[in-house]
Amino acid sequence: MKPFPRAEISRQALLQNLSRLKQLAPNSKIMAVVKANAYGHDLIQVCQSLTQADGFGLARLEEALQVRSGGVSARLLLLEGVFRQEHLKHLVAHNIDTVVHHDNQIAMLEQAQLSRPVTVWLKVDTGMHRLGIRPEDFEQAYQRLMACENVAKPINLMSHFASADEPSKAQNQQQLAVFEQLTTELAGERSMANSAGILNLEQSHFDWIRPGIALYGVSPSDDDGARRRGLKPAMRLVSELIAVREHKAGEPVGYGGIWRAGQDTRLGVVAIGYGDGYPRNAPQGTPVWVNGRICPIVGRVSMDMLTLDLGPAAADKPGDEVEMWGPNLPVEMVARTIDTIAYELVTKLTPRVAVQFD
Ligand SMILES: *Cc1c(COP(=O)(O)O)cnc(C)c1O
Repeated sequence: MKPFPRAEISRQALLQNLSRLKQLAPNSKIMAVVKANAYGHDLIQVCQSLTQADGFGLARLEEALQVRSGGVSARLLLLEGVFRQEHLKHLVAHNIDTVVHHDNQIAMLEQAQLSRPVTVWLKVDTGMHRLGIRPEDFEQAYQRLMACENVAKPINLMSHFASADEPSKAQNQQQLAVFEQLTTELAGERSMANSAGILNLEQSHFDWIRPGIALYGVSPSDDDGARRRGLKPAMRLVSELIAVREHKAGEPVGYGGIWRAGQDTRLGVVAIGYGDGYPRNAPQGTPVWVNGRICPIVGRVSMDMLTLDLGPAAADKPGDEVEMWGPNLPVEMVARTIDTIAYELVTKLTPRVAVQFD
């Protein structure tokens, strides 16, 4: 029996997206970004599926160690680097690259006793102003790393875009110019592009691209950019109708009775709610796919359930499958209605949702 709710993951879509990204950036290697449980798609299974990726990017040491325990031998990179000196020995033991974005991380490398040098990616702040060495401090940071015995040479170089999902913004070209200016003469490999950079800014591809959301077949912005570029949604979030009820005009439904039917209709109760990670703030009208059509959520999302207006002529039955997002209903569209981004929807599913690869 299939559990529900469940997130069905298409291995074929993941593989197709990876090769599509390779076509879009033919001269770059691919650091597939799998932080946050591979954006909710199952860290280990995604890494084991993407054998053609040149490496994997992660946010936490724990995530990288989990990937190694899963038997994955590919190159791994900690995108925010280490947070404590003790982390460094794990990088050596498990052959994990690290970002260096801060003075204190350089100091940790200088002070550590390591049996082997660590491969580092020096992150420069070209305008995002979240992490990274400021351009005026770059030369000194680079020289300190060059002089450090615990750092493998050459030193790789990276930066991150603030607005690549808005390609016409001047900030993108400014960030690129700062990065070029600081790194062109240096020996290390370079990386700048997240999904939006890959799709929108060809000059940003450099030696390594770092796709996250696009790998899962989802646009970095709330449009259909991913689909237009031949990417396919890898996740299909499904649940079931557990009741189909006659509902009279004027009757409210659910907690607070915030919606009333304008006509006699049939309501479907779906076994998914905020306890599964489906947002409680999904408003009236949020789309859900049922038996080939879109039906609106009505009333408040509760912990384990939500209600749909199936319409007066509905023939749907308890046990019918319902798609919350996936190939039939783009998660970008759902995100737009809920006033969030697709990234948040896919990463916030709770452990109650079974993640199943086909
Ligand atoms: C998360 C992340 C990415 C991937 O971003 P997407 O928008 O999902 O493609 C790339 N680089 C860094 C440093 C990141 O933290």
